[in-house]
Amino acid sequence: MKITEILERREYSVSFEVFPPKKDGNFDGVVRATEQIAELKPAYMSVTYGAGGGTGEYTMRIADQTEKKYGFPVLAHLTCVSSTKESLGEAIAELRRRGIGNILALRGDLTPELERTDRSLWAYSHATELIAELRSADPGLCIGGACYPETHPESPDQKEDIKHLKEKADAGCDFFTTQMFFDNSLFYNFMYKIREAGITVPVVPGIMPITNGNQVERAVKLSGSFMPQRFKSLVDAFGSDPEAMTQAGIAYATDQIIDLFANGIRHVHVYSMNKPAVAAGITGALSSIIGKKVK
Ligand code: FAD
Repeated sequence: MKITEILERREYSVSFEVFPPKKDGNFDGVVRATEQIAELKPAYMSVTYGAGGGTGEYTMRIADQTEKKYGFPVLAHLTCVSSTKESLGEAIAELRRRGIGNILALRGDLTPELERTDRSLWAYSHATELIAELRSADPGLCIGGACYPETHPESPDQKEDIKHLKEKADAGCDFFTTQMFFDNSLFYNFMYKIREAGITVPVVPGIMPITNGNQVERAVKLSGSFMPQRFKSLVDAFGSDPEAMTQAGIAYATDQIIDLFANGIRHVHVYSMNKPAVAAGITGALSSIIGKKVK
């Protein structure tokens, strides 16, 4: 089933995300965490692609295995940064061979190593080129892309960023998932602006439950997200106590999700980061709201 069909049919649902191990990492441990999250019956799950493309094989294996075992769709991430035409063609062929029909098409994070390489040698500079390539390889694919309510950190301003987002939609992107944010008003504002710019595809807000103080620093540095005072106070109070921070982080994320649902947003993606307890906490807190009414 296509993710866009789920977004159309379900009334209030959440999806979860896992990331694959690094090459020499713990594959079985990630599979166990993925299965525990899958048992919670999310609307779909997504599997990230390692920065620089290092874990592509694991992404596809986890996506393929989970979809076959649990029957709900899995969204496999795919990045194009540093890919050659040939390596990307092989990745697309492998996704098709495995029957993966939902792909989140990204440029990819720029690792320090990638930053040092000569960009003029890259076959792809932006996600739009990957989206166009996927669309021409298979018109039936469901293709997602990333968007940034607080503007992508490399973008000179929001207007420019939204202009390029429109190009992604026009290249054949069926839906977008947002970068994390901790203040819903930034998301509502962004939605208004992209609709004004003529972007009509569904947008799924991405919510990150913060479970420890160090994670906040990393997450905020990567995404440039604004931290509202209410959120900062919570991290100051509980950030050094992992159990207390997990509870407080789940409560804050749940509060954000309920506000989104109450304001007409029906689907939320949760950056569950291979943590079944976090996924279970969110699912439990929303149990009388999500999963109802399939049209
Ligand atoms: P793009 O859409 O290419 O945008 C990158 C920048 O280029 C933006 O500033 C944009 O405005 C600008 N731009 C776009 N087109 C043009 C153009 N034609 N000319 C000039 N500028 C242009 N990273 C991973 O490595 N693996 C993952 O699995 C992964 N999953 C993610 C999931 C989500 C939901 C999100 C929000 C991010 C994810 N990322 C992942 C991080 C992502 O790869 C980075 O944020 C990356 O820096 C940008 O990726 P993009 O696809 O948005 O790039």
